[in-house]
Amino acid sequence: MKLAVIGTGYVGLVSGTCFAEMGNNVICVDNNREKLKKLNNGQVTIYEPGLELLYQRNFNQKRLRFTDNLKEAVDFAEAIFLCLPTPQGEDGSADLTHVMEIADQIGNILKQSSDYKLIVNKSTVPVGTVAKVKEVLTQKGAKSFDVASNPEFLREGFAVDDFMKPDRIVIGAESEKAFKLLRSLYEPFVRQGNPIIEMDIRSAEVTKYAANSYLATRITFMNELANFCEKAGANVDLVRKGMGSDTRIGKRFLFPGIGYGGSCFPKDVNALIKTSLDFNSELTLLTLVDKINKEQRLRFFNKIKNHFEGNLKGKRFAVWGLAFKPNTDDMREAPSIPVIKMLLENGAKVKAFDPAAMTNSKFYLNDKIEYADNMYDALPDADALLIFTEWNEFRNPDFTKVKSLLKEPLIFDGRNVYDLDDMEELGFTYYSIGRKIIK
Ligand code: NAD
Repeated sequence: MKLAVIGTGYVGLVSGTCFAEMGNNVICVDNNREKLKKLNNGQVTIYEPGLELLYQRNFNQKRLRFTDNLKEAVDFAEAIFLCLPTPQGEDGSADLTHVMEIADQIGNILKQSSDYKLIVNKSTVPVGTVAKVKEVLTQKGAKSFDVASNPEFLREGFAVDDFMKPDRIVIGAESEKAFKLLRSLYEPFVRQGNPIIEMDIRSAEVTKYAANSYLATRITFMNELANFCEKAGANVDLVRKGMGSDTRIGKRFLFPGIGYGGSCFPKDVNALIKTSLDFNSELTLLTLVDKINKEQRLRFFNKIKNHFEGNLKGKRFAVWGLAFKPNTDDMREAPSIPVIKMLLENGAKVKAFDPAAMTNSKFYLNDKIEYADNMYDALPDADALLIFTEWNEFRNPDFTKVKSLLKEPLIFDGRNVYDLDDMEELGFTYYSIGRKIIK
């Protein structure tokens, strides 16, 4: 199948590459010249396990191409996937500027053509957006087209695996032609028997927000429960195992921490709240979820501050992990950012190590912090080690070395990476989430 993918970020580059891997011919479009230069020079622009191999193979075999020429891509493709950013606007709603701009441009291209095109929206957009795109195309004079909704559920860090073997594919469309085309495109991805779920467009649009908001709520529930466990003298990790073994609840996505972040959950929760207000049907639970999530970062900062009796001036902190979760270089809305900013505002100094996110971190933290060459290089003379991201390489460090390099054997762990008994035996003062303090 001939495909166009507009926007080559986390979703677009992974989608385009994986579609090509299944034998489709794909042109990816982006308006970022620097990104295109790299992609056309055989260089992958994001960190995503497994992507490089697939990209190289398909790029070399010319099934995967990159351009800034939207017309070339639209003329070439039967299906055109919109993988454009929908960032949070000032009032919390999803900013649809990029999607509507491209809809406008596609409309101008399609009015000169009589070939059927299927426009497929993969960006996370509020209910009714696909209808707006359709309206723009119709107004521009496009004749033979459908617009469908095909929300993307990939997780950063597992994006290639998720795309190649999705739990489900959701397709919202209005015509059998659109359903048929997308069904045949996606069937090779669900050979193991996972479902392709077909529905109306509005339901597909809501499904994506419902999934992300539910996951954000689940994490937030655990974070608030962890705070309660700290006060009540319970261990949230044991509670998690006890409750998660119930098949109605399930074991996944129950890990407490310093709050959810990333490019999706915070903005999607806020966008759904805003949409619910627009429809005069407020999702009040989500308003609380957003509030509790922000407070969770502050609580972690306060743990550090209280340990030092309110005085952080001149204190030095080693940081392990900056990205909002492991296996990604994505720093968007990472909880590490507000906590580090609060530390700096209170006169502390920070030296950080992250296996993948240090380049992107510079955009958010400028050169206000130092960066270490490796995890141990962050430690010398630090008053404490702070863990923001549970990268696997932090799970089993040489604790003797950690202890000898730190000024004090003191760890604030925002991800419950270590065992309490081990920390006690090793002689660390150890703060974690929802568990007793080891002193
Ligand atoms: P991103 O910011 O990583 O990538 C967007 C790309 O679009 C960038 O390369 C940008 O240069 C390009 N772009 C912007 N305007 C353009 C234009 N006018 N013409 C051509 N290219 C343009 O975003 P992302 O993380 O891939 O997210 C895209 C959408 O998918 C969002 O709606 C997001 O909510 C949703 N989503 C993201 C994820 C995720 O894990 N990142 C998962 C599922 C869904």
